[in-house]
Amino acid sequence: MIVGDISRISGPVVLSEGMRGCRMYDVVKVGEQELNGEIIRLDGDQAVIQVYEDTTGLKVGEKVTNTGLPLSVELGPGLLSSIYDGIQRPLPLLAEKTGSFISRGVTLPGLSHVRRWEFRPRVKMGDQVTGGDIIGTVTEYHLEHRVMMPPFVSGIVKEIHSGEFTVDEPVCTLEDGTQIPMLQTWPVRKGRPYQRKMDPDTLLVTGQRVFDSLFPVTKGGTAMIPGGFGTGKTVAEQTLAKWSDTQVVVYIGCGERGNEMTDVLTEFPELVDPRTKYPLIQRTILIANTSNMPVAAREASIYTGITLAEYYRDMGYDVALMADSTSRWGEALREVSGRLEEMPGEEGYPAYLATRLAAFYERAGRVVCLGSDERKGSVTVVGAVSPPGGDFSEPITQNTLRIAGTFWALDTSLAYRRHFPSVNWIKSYSLYLDQVQDWFTASGFSDWKDLRARTMYLLQKEVELQEIVQLVGPDALPESEKAILEITRMIREDFLQQSAYHDIDSFCSLEKQYWMLRVILSFHERVDLAMGKGVPLTKILKLPVKNEIGRMKELSGFDQIKDLITKIDGAISALEAER
Ligand code: ADP
Ligand code: MG
Repeated sequence: MIVGDISRISGPVVLSEGMRGCRMYDVVKVGEQELNGEIIRLDGDQAVIQVYEDTTGLKVGEKVTNTGLPLSVELGPGLLSSIYDGIQRPLPLLAEKTGSFISRGVTLPGLSHVRRWEFRPRVKMGDQVTGGDIIGTVTEYHLEHRVMMPPFVSGIVKEIHSGEFTVDEPVCTLEDGTQIPMLQTWPVRKGRPYQRKMDPDTLLVTGQRVFDSLFPVTKGGTAMIPGGFGTGKTVAEQTLAKWSDTQVVVYIGCGERGNEMTDVLTEFPELVDPRTKYPLIQRTILIANTSNMPVAAREASIYTGITLAEYYRDMGYDVALMADSTSRWGEALREVSGRLEEMPGEEGYPAYLATRLAAFYERAGRVVCLGSDERKGSVTVVGAVSPPGGDFSEPITQNTLRIAGTFWALDTSLAYRRHFPSVNWIKSYSLYLDQVQDWFTASGFSDWKDLRARTMYLLQKEVELQEIVQLVGPDALPESEKAILEITRMIREDFLQQSAYHDIDSFCSLEKQYWMLRVILSFHERVDLAMGKGVPLTKILKLPVKNEIGRMKELSGFDQIKDLITKIDGAISALEAER
């Protein structure tokens, strides 16, 4: 075992001599309190270590012990509904042991090693098994937790057990004597292997109209939510965590205020998954590294989170990972880099910021999983970005822009006007439009792309028309363009605005979204037709059916919404007949 001694301490960064023979990213125990740390640079026998815990009181000359192991997480049944810190220590246990969330020198396993799980085998004696193969299952809440052969291990089954086991006890023995327990450990900085990546072509249904209908993200895709303070990034991330149609959600609270995590912790156990009717917390893993917690552990938290996400992906599930916020993660990187006296790049961030960000988002994707039984899984990554002053030209926003497939730009002025979600429909985009087209068609919405294009056209036209109105007043516009302004107001208020707190409207099914948009656009068509026949716009706008359009979002089903199309036609036909 290699033992060195501390020669310098600078905040979370510690220098240790006598470390020759250590490897990069080895985990070390630092000082008398055995604080957890990780080697991030090696230079001869000197190691630079980032310490995941508060280094106050640590002194030069204290010992550093190398564990010889990379920073790893424990994978197995019992992850769901857990609440971890950045290095997978269960926060409730930490608090029990130390009286606070900010403990020092405490090592706690990520999984319970005493709890027994009912293991049901899937393979039998004599079967050939390879890495990724499902050898049995365990029920984890309502999810079939698939116990897999660790990657790169293969052989012939000599013994396979059934019954109750802890995660450490072997459930399978191979002919060469290798024993396979349910527990796997995996180094967090390394992506878990899969057979191959697939084109992400399936919509991640979020139940949020502005996302699903206008700027979709795919299962296995990446999305970013940049926005200034108070624009609704956290609400958006939490809404996605609640309503996304995935089996597992990993939520990383990264460097934000502690009370936001408290919201999640108190709210989730009470919320019910609209699809399965089970408590949402039972499909969620929370990682909390709030602003008052050590900065280096924040750097690690996103790797811990994505490794857990990949593990469930490998079972063949769809997983969504939310990170709030990647800017705070970048700031942790900047702080550590500053302590290392590295040559700073743009705005003090290290030159490798872009590569690190890309490497993180690169771990998203829809894949054919490892193993001989064909299955597919996905990890979707949604990262919030909090640019200082809401200025999107800063490095984290700019570098993420080059990577993320969907860009949901939150807008301070929309938030100020209480238009939520404050997604700016002119600046936002999705690169997945073509890829999800077939999925929409197969799901029964073959004209989705056309509806979307017409909606986007009108919204862009509105910007133009508003400029004219500002210059010369609304009366200068022809009737048909005044009608457009009425329709776009409907699109904005009756379709795009969606309260995260409304009992019914917080989640909007795809059918309902589709029919809402159809109603508004067919209203437009019908208005145009009537105006062509000489019916004045003002008269049409007084029709009571118009108010019904404004109340569509409060309806729980979509049949009444569908019926509105005939109702609108009837009411406008009556006006035409009056003439
Ligand atoms: P940020 O994380 O960007 O600083 P928050 O997510 O905390 O901002 O949102 C700030 C406030 O905006 C929330 O407390 C809430 O009142 C409002 N808000 C944001 N999104 C929505 C939404 N979809 N529906 C209703 N209110 C929202
Ligand atoms: Mg926030």
